[in-house]
Amino acid sequence: MIRGTVHFKIEICKGCELCIVACPQESLGLSNKINLQGYRFAELIKDNCTGCINCALVCPDAAITVYREPKSALRKSGKEAVEVK
Ligand code: SF4
Ligand code: SF4
Repeated sequence: MIRGTVHFKIEICKGCELCIVACPQESLGLSNKINLQGYRFAELIKDNCTGCINCALVCPDAAITVYREPKSALRKSGKEAVEVK
């Protein structure tokens, strides 16, 4: 089983919601806060990301980096996740 997480460059996110629609896990949503451009930005709202990278592939602004690692490895090592994009 793969466990993933995502990091957003919130200052370049335009809140287009493409990543939110593309996520099969419904892990993403729009923040109630706004960035310096005045947009509500996308954020992780659930702890169920699988690291499938769909969100990163559809983002027109390359604002998303996906990290993933097998759950067993995370439990054993507690190490930083591996960057895949
Ligand atoms: S990597 Fe996949 S599961 Fe994780 S937030 Fe992005 S689209 Fe959703
Ligand atoms: S696809 Fe990119 S620009 Fe659009 S809401 Fe998601 S992170 Fe922001």
